[in-house]
Amino acid sequence: MARYIGAVCKLCRREGGKLYLKGERCFTEKCAVSRRPYPPGQHGQARIKLSEYGLRLREKQKMRRIYGLLEKQFSGYYVQATHLKGRTGEEMLGLIERRLDNVVLRMGFASSRAQARQLVRHMHVKVNGKYVNIPSYVVSPNDKIEIEEAAKKIPFIAAALAAAGNRQQASWLEVDKETFSGTFKSMPVRDELNEPSVREQYVVEYYSR
Ligand code: SF4
Repeated sequence: MARYIGAVCKLCRREGGKLYLKGERCFTEKCAVSRRPYPPGQHGQARIKLSEYGLRLREKQKMRRIYGLLEKQFSGYYVQATHLKGRTGEEMLGLIERRLDNVVLRMGFASSRAQARQLVRHMHVKVNGKYVNIPSYVVSPNDKIEIEEAAKKIPFIAAALAAAGNRQQASWLEVDKETFSGTFKSMPVRDELNEPSVREQYVVEYYSR
């Protein structure tokens, strides 16, 4: 599966806020959004008024970049969400939140989605006792996620767990730091997905135009 390998801080600056793509650096004063709070490029500091379409495009790009997805996969989540019963935007967010790489990040085993994705790709993560190396694997309620034995010695996992301890844990997850494991208890709660904020309704309007 292809992925974006360019400079990620530029993406945050383009979207006008922190997307938290670089782990702990995002919480320090080294963050590029704090140091240069304007879009990248020669005309980054020019004043540009976005059209209604532009607003929706930017919101779509922002949400896609937060989760590190390319367009084809991201728009696929929109199509899937339109077939579900709930509000399309919330269903779309829920589907993406249930990706294994995202759950590994939210449980605190990695400090960024890129790192979480690497853990999954390198077969360091088990779901219900079985190795899963597909970052887009959809986690279901009551699934048990664990870091495999040998990977527990990887320094960045312990560092990420320690750092995550200072942040609030999502209510739908239960994490046991001692055993490097956790349970996905229930479906994600929309109200808790506020940082970075996304206006999923704009994303739906972008795709349904
Ligand atoms: Fe870079 Fe993280 Fe700051 Fe974004 S939030 S600009 S990824 S340091």
